[in-house]
Amino acid sequence: MAQQDAGAPRQAAGDKAHGEELVLRDEQRLLYLLALTCLPFWVVDSLSVMRPAWDTLALRLGWAGLTGAMGWSLRWLGPSRRRGVRTVAGVVVPNVFLGLVVYRLGGVGSPLFSWFFVMPLMTLTVSRGELWQGLLSTLLPLVSAGTVMRLEGMAPGPMVTRLLLLLGAGAVGMQMSAFYRKLRQARARAEDEQRAVQEALEASQARALQAERLAQVGRLAAGVAHEVKNPLAYVQANLRFLLEEWRQPATGADDTEYTEALQETMQGVERIHQIVKDLTALSRAEETVAGVGRCELVPVIDASVRLASVRLKSLVRLAVEVPPEAVAKAEPRRLGQVLLNLLLNAADAIEDAKVQDGRVAVRAEVEGERVRVMVEDNGPGISAENLPRLFTTFFTTKAPGKGTGLGLALSRQYVESFGGTLRAENRPEGGARFIVELPVA
Ligand code: ADP
Repeated sequence: MAQQDAGAPRQAAGDKAHGEELVLRDEQRLLYLLALTCLPFWVVDSLSVMRPAWDTLALRLGWAGLTGAMGWSLRWLGPSRRRGVRTVAGVVVPNVFLGLVVYRLGGVGSPLFSWFFVMPLMTLTVSRGELWQGLLSTLLPLVSAGTVMRLEGMAPGPMVTRLLLLLGAGAVGMQMSAFYRKLRQARARAEDEQRAVQEALEASQARALQAERLAQVGRLAAGVAHEVKNPLAYVQANLRFLLEEWRQPATGADDTEYTEALQETMQGVERIHQIVKDLTALSRAEETVAGVGRCELVPVIDASVRLASVRLKSLVRLAVEVPPEAVAKAEPRRLGQVLLNLLLNAADAIEDAKVQDGRVAVRAEVEGERVRVMVEDNGPGISAENLPRLFTTFFTTKAPGKGTGLGLALSRQYVESFGGTLRAENRPEGGARFIVELPVA
């Protein structure tokens, strides 16, 4: 979730291309539909003159062919040309051809003349709420019907009446068009808002992940200070001894003692180096995730135990039992985080309950197609009331500032992303047991 995904821009571009393809197909489908719908009306043409109207069949075939060809051509055009072609095919062509059909069928006296009143509403389906297209849808039937009436030499009175009626139909169409535009804008706004909410949610999930990781580092901090102080003390003492001996040999120490002092110093420095390395790996775990794959459990468990031991060592006795052949399908960094969280939780439970002889065990076993890793403790266990809520985000029984309530929720999410499960139970002999079950690699 929080991971910087290098593939994200590519995916966004892919989504955009997919969206554009859908819009294009939508536009093409609309024009094909318009092309097809003008053909069956030839039956009405023929009925209106009580004979097969072959001339209007030719006109309608031309009308359908032209509209279909324009729909087909959309694929090769840019967005602004596409809009132009859609307007010509959806508004100009129908009005011109309808004018010709009506003229051939008897003009104003033809029952088909009334179709001009429906034209603004019909052509508005392709206008998508754009104002100028709406105006065109209103004006073109006026021009087309006006031309038919003029060609027939109609008297100005009835002609103006019909044109005014047409204008009325156009006004209704315009209103519908404006309504449609508002609907589209509202939908676009709602989509924008939904996207913003989604982004905010993702950002807050990323922050939660970061908070959990920092909390883990924080939980280790006290132990780290202790762990570093110890080797640092003897590194310092040994260096002081070596320096003094080099300046002014006083103790009569021999080569073996010098070698021992140097070896001890080296071990101390290596221990400090290991702690710093493990902590750095933990705080940068998200940047270095490798993807789910073959994961040997021994090194992953070793690293988690090593990190956790800076806190666990002073509190509990730790036992680790992992067969070398245990190999699971997982992402090593994330599995390490899961185990570290389980180990630190066990330490917290033992510490909070002030258990004297604290014990934590990590055991792994392979059974058929599953690898099971168990983290057990002899702490107070989990109450029946809390057991079902344990993996819920933000569920914590720890004091404010000590627990985030994210560790187990996140751990389960990680384990499930490997195709595994994470569950908790109470041990019959007391204490809690967390079981990570993973597919064998
Ligand atoms: P956090 O550790 O921040 O509280 P987690 O999701 O890791 O968040 O743990 C949620 C809760 O589960 C803890 O607050 C604790 O009540 C309970 N819990 C986890 N591990 C143990 C355990 N080993 N023994 C008892 N309770 C535990």
